[in-house]
Amino acid sequence: MPTIAHNLKQIHAQIHVAEQTYQRVENSVQLLAVSKTKPARAIVSAYHAGQRHFGENYVQEALNKQVELGAFDITWHFIGAIQSNKTKVLATHFDWIHCVENLKIAQRLSSQRPDFLPPLNICVQVNISAEPSKSGVTLDELGNLVLQISALPNLVLRGVMAIPAPQTDFAAQREPYQKLVAAVKALKNVNLTTFSFGMSDDLKAAIAEGSTLVRIGTALFGARA
Ligand SMILES: *Cc1c(COP(=O)(O)O)cnc(C)c1O
Repeated sequence: MPTIAHNLKQIHAQIHVAEQTYQRVENSVQLLAVSKTKPARAIVSAYHAGQRHFGENYVQEALNKQVELGAFDITWHFIGAIQSNKTKVLATHFDWIHCVENLKIAQRLSSQRPDFLPPLNICVQVNISAEPSKSGVTLDELGNLVLQISALPNLVLRGVMAIPAPQTDFAAQREPYQKLVAAVKALKNVNLTTFSFGMSDDLKAAIAEGSTLVRIGTALFGARA
């Protein structure tokens, strides 16, 4: 069985090769380790191999791990669906929130962010494949929401995140990301620098199209039960 440290090294190598292949600036793509359903000891293994940013999807599971790992210098990202009755916990216990898709949630996160913490980092989730069943704003709605969130005091709007419909073909994987990046670049009066997209199965396509943060679970920690 390959170890987590070994997998981490492999993923960094893949990121590096993709950066070179697609003329991306060296080290411009950050790795977010997605540890949902995995035990705290898996996070510790990755931590000892140098990983500092971890992403979790389920609030209670994440809080339990944060208590267990209180002594570690971890940056916690929430990448799950946001229920409005959980915004206070999220605003208090995370450094980044990736799946913001409406103003009401953003307002709650801003007003519930404790004063003793720095502003909360936010990404707006975009439904780039425009699947009716999926979360996120459409590209048409993005500009408005971005402007409204930018005005909130205790948030820093960093960028966008997306989870497109899975595709196996490389060109098909690239297409929605290309559309998203073009739409973001066309927005006026905002400076969005985080492109949170790319998972274990489409990391290369994501980097080819401008991802700055790939969210990797399976390739790092193994398949989830
Ligand atoms: C689970 C998850 C990931 C990681 O997916 P893998 O295919 O295991 O790399 C990335 N982003 C989000 C939002 C997830 O829920």
